[in-house]
Amino acid sequence: MSEFDLKDTILTRLGENYDLHDKYINRTLVKVQRTIGFDKIYARAEGAYLYDLDGKDYLDFLSGYSVFNIGRNHPTIQKAIRDVLELDLPNMVQMDCSVLSGLLAEALVKKLGPSRDACFLCNSGTEAVEGALKFARASTQRPGILAQEGSYHGLSFGALSITHSGNFREAFGPFLPGADFVKFGDLADLEKKLKSRQIAAFIFEPVQGKGVKYPSDDYFPAAQELCRKYGTLFISDEVQTALGRTGKWFGFQHWNLDPDIVTMAKALSGGYVPCAAIVMRRPIYQGIFSRLDRCVAHSTTFGRNNLAMACGLASLHVTENEHLVENAALRGEQLMSRLRDLQEKHDVISEVRGKGLMIAIEFKEPRSLKLKLAWKAIHAMDKGLFPQMIVTPLLQKHRILTQVAAHNSDIVKILPPLIIGEKEINRFVTAFDDVLSDLGKFPGPLWDFGQNLVKAALSQKKSLAESVPA
Ligand code: PMP
Repeated sequence: MSEFDLKDTILTRLGENYDLHDKYINRTLVKVQRTIGFDKIYARAEGAYLYDLDGKDYLDFLSGYSVFNIGRNHPTIQKAIRDVLELDLPNMVQMDCSVLSGLLAEALVKKLGPSRDACFLCNSGTEAVEGALKFARASTQRPGILAQEGSYHGLSFGALSITHSGNFREAFGPFLPGADFVKFGDLADLEKKLKSRQIAAFIFEPVQGKGVKYPSDDYFPAAQELCRKYGTLFISDEVQTALGRTGKWFGFQHWNLDPDIVTMAKALSGGYVPCAAIVMRRPIYQGIFSRLDRCVAHSTTFGRNNLAMACGLASLHVTENEHLVENAALRGEQLMSRLRDLQEKHDVISEVRGKGLMIAIEFKEPRSLKLKLAWKAIHAMDKGLFPQMIVTPLLQKHRILTQVAAHNSDIVKILPPLIIGEKEINRFVTAFDDVLSDLGKFPGPLWDFGQNLVKAALSQKKSLAESVPA
């Protein structure tokens, strides 16, 4: 009998990552990562940094799509996990009520109450959204769900039915009956659809993940009022925005909203164990658990497991204790202001926008004749390629991880961990300036890289940028 030695396995096999994935997991993703130069082997991580096998640091301005708000491998989360293990706690007994899930629910209600006073705990963002849709239907007895154009709410069937952005829907229809979209930021369109009084819920991201978009300041308060008027529940999907990402604990607080249901996931995990929650008003909750024989009518086996609950509690503690919400607001302003300063030097930047540390940098056709032609040529070949020409050198030359913000857009998105300070801001702004200066050189290596990407995509008869994770 051989001993199970995971450390030894990891140390001997680290480096085989992409080959293993090519063989057994998603080889299309491997191909994309290799083509865009994202096939790095990260060996260690701490705070805002990843480290490769040579110990070189990579500044993580992607944060696992907003999972690592508190940075990576935080000692408080590690200690919470160790505490659970050392106590040999009973876990997932199911026909009991564990103390840790009670404590996490209490902590979340304290953050979101007093009117949102009931909590459902689950495992992922899409599952939180699915649950929210079920709670809304059960409590209103209505079939309709409205979401915004440009939305992203997850990829399981219910959530996908209200996901509008990108090419996620291709090949999966038909979708949930009753699911529909409203024009982004258009109150008249919302009211037209609410008037049917068949709409259980209107679900929105306070700041849309795809493209970092939010409507004008009057939209959400008025949308909330319309929802109240027509008996429709108002759901804030905070899977990406909760726990300080936008410089407030929750994104809806930017407009002093009072949503009926709030979903969250990602950062609640502390970067370790998937953890998600739906927090809502008690009567909505009871809409599903309406009789004794319906006491588990909505449930999930792993939903309240101890390690996830410990991570949730520890994440809330660290976010509070290290003043990360305040830091996100402060550093977000500093970063956006420094990036806006670059606009004078690089007219290819059309807009820097965001809330807290959820930031988009959008690009437009440059004024110089030579660059204008290069821009046009690249866009004629592929509408979503240009931001990849920024994201790749940021990683290759400057070791900074960022992402393309949405399909067919000219937007780079950054989601730094909320722990960043001046050092990280300086490194990013200097690198970004340098990459844009390199882009100003046409012909030049960056434009050649763009053309090579197009060639790689054409050989696949498909847009490469379409398949780039966003
Ligand atoms: N809702 C929003 C607003 C999201 O940003 C995401 C994930 N990007 C989801 C739902 C789905 O979360 P998950 O990937 O955990 O299923």
